[in-house]
Amino acid sequence: MTGGPPGSLIAELLPGLRAFAIPMKTRFRGITVREGALIEGPAGWGEFSPFAEYGPRECARWLGCALEAATVGWPAPARSQIPVNVTVPAVGPEQAHALVAASGCGTAKVKVAERGQPAGADAARVEAVRDAIGPGGRIRVDANGAWDVDQAERALRELSRFGLEYAEQPCATLEELAQLRRRVDVPVAADESIRRAEDPLAVRAAGAADIVVLKAQPLGGVRAALAVAAACGLPVVVSSAVETSVGLAAGVALAAALPSLPYACGLATMSLLTGDVTAGPLVESGGVLPVRRPAIDAQRLASYEIDPAPWRARVMAAAQYLDPA
Ligand SMILES: [Mg+2]
Repeated sequence: MTGGPPGSLIAELLPGLRAFAIPMKTRFRGITVREGALIEGPAGWGEFSPFAEYGPRECARWLGCALEAATVGWPAPARSQIPVNVTVPAVGPEQAHALVAASGCGTAKVKVAERGQPAGADAARVEAVRDAIGPGGRIRVDANGAWDVDQAERALRELSRFGLEYAEQPCATLEELAQLRRRVDVPVAADESIRRAEDPLAVRAAGAADIVVLKAQPLGGVRAALAVAAACGLPVVVSSAVETSVGLAAGVALAAALPSLPYACGLATMSLLTGDVTAGPLVESGGVLPVRRPAIDAQRLASYEIDPAPWRARVMAAAQYLDPA
């Protein structure tokens, strides 16, 4: 940091803030355009892209991540590339097969428990993914909390014949996850249960998960997320918040700095956006992302640029809740 209180730091960096809006290839979290801001400091550019519904207090952690990137950068990496998973949305088996076959990933994350789909749709999708990824590939399923405990137990018993690495957020609450863990052998990962720094500790205390999914922006930056990982003591899967390559680089830095990284990460999300603000996007190749920090490309940024005023206001509002570092 520059030594002053967060307010004076913000005042220094705010005039250079740029805002972007990049269309998404398909609707995600109900949005079709990913918006955010980029803040440049002495250490480079940081991304501040909390979703629209988040208030200033929650946005402060996202801002902390951007300021860390802009002012001090990240801890030294312990590895030079990050294994990543291909994500298979709740599509039909043929499309699922094609998605996995086209990617270089040895791990696939398959969305399951989609509302309105017929019985058997999940099994058909997971079976197609197993066929495409081969016997040595890893398959995790993500229910986004949609099952109750009985449904989850039944579904995981059925799907485990295709070989499951783990089930991500099979149920919504910690109590349900803890109950489910006592009933099935498939390891359980907590994702939606973790949205703030104290959550992973609660997940562990409740015996609710074997694995935690951590994201750099919502946890306040790479160092904050590393501290959470250490305090929680469970294996970590690093995931993105569907950022540009500037924001993804923080997730990559987090994954690179973790003492151990036993699972592929959910950082291959550039494929969800129609473009990037860098000339060298962090895209998956051969099942991995390189550990590097791509520079902003002026032309590409200009082509997605929007009015920065609302984003400056969001930064100012969030800054009031920053921890004085
Ligand atoms: Mg998830």
